[in-house]
Amino acid sequence: PVIGIPELMRILIDEYGYDWDTAWSITTKTFNYTCHTLLPEALEVWPASLIGELLPRHLEIIEKINAQFEAELKAKGVAADTIKDMAIYTGDAVRMAYLATYGGSHVNGVAELHSQLLKDVTLKNFSDVYPDKFTNVTNGVTPRRFVKLANPRLSDLITEGLGTDKWVSDLELLKGLEPLAADDEFVKKFAAVKQANKVDFANYAKREYGFDIDPNTMINTMVKRLHEYKRQALKILAVIARYADIKSGKISADDVMPRTIVFGAKAAPGYYLAKQTIQLINNVARVINNDPDVKSKLNVYFPWNYNIRLAQHLIPATDLDEQISQAGKEASGTGNMKFALNGAMTVGTLDGANVEIRERVGAENFLLFGVTVDEVDALYAEGYEPKKYYEADPRLKAAIDMVSKGAFSNGGRNTYAPLVADWLTKDWFMTLADFTAYCEIQGEIEVLYRDPLEWNRKAVLNVANSGYFSSDRSMEDYLDRIWHTGPLA
Ligand SMILES: *Cc1c(COP(=O)(O)O)cnc(C)c1O
Repeated sequence: PVIGIPELMRILIDEYGYDWDTAWSITTKTFNYTCHTLLPEALEVWPASLIGELLPRHLEIIEKINAQFEAELKAKGVAADTIKDMAIYTGDAVRMAYLATYGGSHVNGVAELHSQLLKDVTLKNFSDVYPDKFTNVTNGVTPRRFVKLANPRLSDLITEGLGTDKWVSDLELLKGLEPLAADDEFVKKFAAVKQANKVDFANYAKREYGFDIDPNTMINTMVKRLHEYKRQALKILAVIARYADIKSGKISADDVMPRTIVFGAKAAPGYYLAKQTIQLINNVARVINNDPDVKSKLNVYFPWNYNIRLAQHLIPATDLDEQISQAGKEASGTGNMKFALNGAMTVGTLDGANVEIRERVGAENFLLFGVTVDEVDALYAEGYEPKKYYEADPRLKAAIDMVSKGAFSNGGRNTYAPLVADWLTKDWFMTLADFTAYCEIQGEIEVLYRDPLEWNRKAVLNVANSGYFSSDRSMEDYLDRIWHTGPLA
């Protein structure tokens, strides 16, 4: 998309005969940059040779933009080293994020934490020189699709509770449900809605996938693209540890709170570790679901082809949602918003929009765990050693050893060797560092879930305080902070 900047320059100058300065003024007023990620591999850097071969005129314009940019920085008194660090065109490559930042009027991230990290880390030099360019627009999701359409039972209950259906286009009205969290009758109606949705989902999963899901168990969901930073590995290792504890009799089967764990995820075709993780989860599911020792206590399902249609069935039926990315890596997340609006509780890290969800629903109604952005930085700085965590927590060691010794690959010890090697020697996203805290919070979750009234009270408070996460509010913020215009009509 960033090629749009030199392309507009080309059209204005070559086709419409504008001079450079006028064209630049129009172009920078036309473009704004919304950054959707902090992962370096997604901040594109293109070889100049490739651009030169395919789009020679664009490369010429990019070189000229870069020269103008350097002169502008010099005039502002920016140090020569810093100017070099900020180069849009290095001679060998074009840094698209830098071109987008210089070539537009505004730059925004998609959650408060993400926008802050953009300013403090990723685009720090730019934010020092152009502080007024930077702003935030926290993402949102559409309440028409993700509440009204996906969850008609909850929609009716909300309308009954508020005495109006105006919330569908004014989601902050959900705040009016807050007092009803103290009303046991309302909370019981809310719980009945969730239960009916779970029965619906179990039927749907039987019909579409042939799964036998027990709707009387906790439905614990992790659905999102498969990526190491999102840490599906953390979830599956905790499931394996749980399985081992039940198998070994460390926890008596009678004491186990029955759970159904549902994963949904696709991976990029060439992303080997992600594909291995999908295969591992499926094989763990096969082993656990066929083991009579844990039957009806722990089940794992991986419906294939995770998409919006499946999301609309699954989200309203979820009790516990997993948002467990490594702090500082998930730009915003929108799944987290869909679940909160549908009355799931969230177990999550201080990452992306989780931070704002927790602020709004209240810390006591959000199941927080894990290291923070600052702690992640400190661990990288001291030389992160995943093996230390493996040695320190016997449950973690047992879970990883089961994977490496073939418990989920018919005895094959090579199957997951690449995955295990990564965990023990690299673990860039610190799955191992957060494992112990993650198991602890899961223990607290079991205690809380055994008190349905309290659990559902908290879930109601999640719904009541998530109106901010409407895409309508997000659009209003874009109108106000980025586009400087108003809504039509
Ligand atoms: C909302 C949604 C996502 C994004 O989920 P995150 O948890 O925010 O990554 C991905 N896929 C589908 C089908 C969705 O509906």
